[in-house]
Amino acid sequence: MSEAKEEDSQQTSAISFLHGKTRKKLYKILKGGEIILSEIPGKYAGWRPGKIFGRLDCRSGMRMKKENRVFFHTWDDAVEEGYRPCKKCKPTPED
Ligand SMILES: [Zn+2]
Repeated sequence: MSEAKEEDSQQTSAISFLHGKTRKKLYKILKGGEIILSEIPGKYAGWRPGKIFGRLDCRSGMRMKKENRVFFHTWDDAVEEGYRPCKKCKPTPED
């Protein structure tokens, strides 16, 4: 659990780090009950305290604190985690 705690303390959702001379961006992707770091950006953005997910450009999503944001690669991933679609931006599985 100490690893998860460390992730929570990160101030940014997209974490950059130096890998050799290549700077890679990693995204916090919620999948199968745990947060993984992926180079592939999520398709949907989730808000952990409210368990709501929406489009990446959702206006209410933009106001979320970054440390509370997670991302999903697929609609099913979000639904399986118990997240509800945002009522403002109304994401659809086809997005
Ligand atoms: Zn939204």
